[in-house]
Amino acid sequence: MEKLIQELIELPGACGQEHAVIRYLYDRLKDKADECYVNGLGDLIVTKKGAFDGPVLAVSAHTDEVGFIVKKIEKNGLIRFEKLGGHDDRILLSQKVIVHGGKGPCPGVIGTISAHMQKFDNPTLVRNHREMYIDIGAENAEEVKEMGVSAGDQITWDTVFTRCGANRAYGHAFDDRCGCAVLVKAIENTDFSKVHGTLIGIFSTQEEVGLRGATAAAAAIRPDVALAVDTTAVSDTPEAMMDDTLALGKGAGIKIMDFSLLASRAVWTFMRQIAEENNIPYQLEIFTGIGTDAGALHQGNDGVPTGVISVPSRYAHSSVEMIDMRDFDYCEKLLEAFLLNMRDKSQFSFLQSDL
Ligand SMILES: [Zn+2]
Repeated sequence: MEKLIQELIELPGACGQEHAVIRYLYDRLKDKADECYVNGLGDLIVTKKGAFDGPVLAVSAHTDEVGFIVKKIEKNGLIRFEKLGGHDDRILLSQKVIVHGGKGPCPGVIGTISAHMQKFDNPTLVRNHREMYIDIGAENAEEVKEMGVSAGDQITWDTVFTRCGANRAYGHAFDDRCGCAVLVKAIENTDFSKVHGTLIGIFSTQEEVGLRGATAAAAAIRPDVALAVDTTAVSDTPEAMMDDTLALGKGAGIKIMDFSLLASRAVWTFMRQIAEENNIPYQLEIFTGIGTDAGALHQGNDGVPTGVISVPSRYAHSSVEMIDMRDFDYCEKLLEAFLLNMRDKSQFSFLQSDL
């Protein structure tokens, strides 16, 4: 599992440029699925049938990561950029990045004024990303061109998978390569000779710019029940707004509500029940600061009972997201248990959950 996450986060995949991630997943899964295709937006859709009749379960994990895109190259070789996905401008300065040009990756940094200049600056100023620039070590625009970099190239964080403490790791793009890894492992490890129903795995594109890939994928399938697997922000650090309702290392998140979804009560109570039966630690999640592919999936067709399995994470969308590897295993076990315990689509119907 650790090797899989490591491999996945090292592939560049800013929004709309998920090609390397989709190619990796397609090559890995094409012989393990009943059907495997890539739609017009780049979503990889993998169908795996169980041995018995039962519900069609769609599970989405997004392949894109928050990143940037080259907008303009200045005469002196510095690069102006636009954001892809939700970034906090306060934490961009002096970060290491990789510009993925036509001749290969170019490491660089988001420039910042020297500390010696700070006394001439306004110390309370938060710079907008449009005032910032990326320095890839080129002396002028011609050198940048020779390096193969041009407008439209993707830029990603330059941090690698790093283990820390007994159980934790930091790196970038855990959101949502963790979800991709959970879905891959569920496809590879679940005993489908015991599954009632069919899994449609969606490795979606462009989630971070508004659930665009999942919206396209949802229009082409007719699931009876759906899940997203995505990271969620925990609230266990000392900042004033943290309410300590979700913590790292304390179990798979079972979503009840976020800003994109009021999860199906039938789906989340089913997940809570199978988590308890299988001794899988879990945390119930009500957090309105986040949305996932489930926001698109549940509004597909004439409405789809939908829930979310959340991988707890700290420092989301930064270059140093942190996860606890135990949570990751709990999430995979929960998805496997979902597949092995679903029986009939009626168990997820609205009136069924009049609890
Ligand atoms: Zn995400």
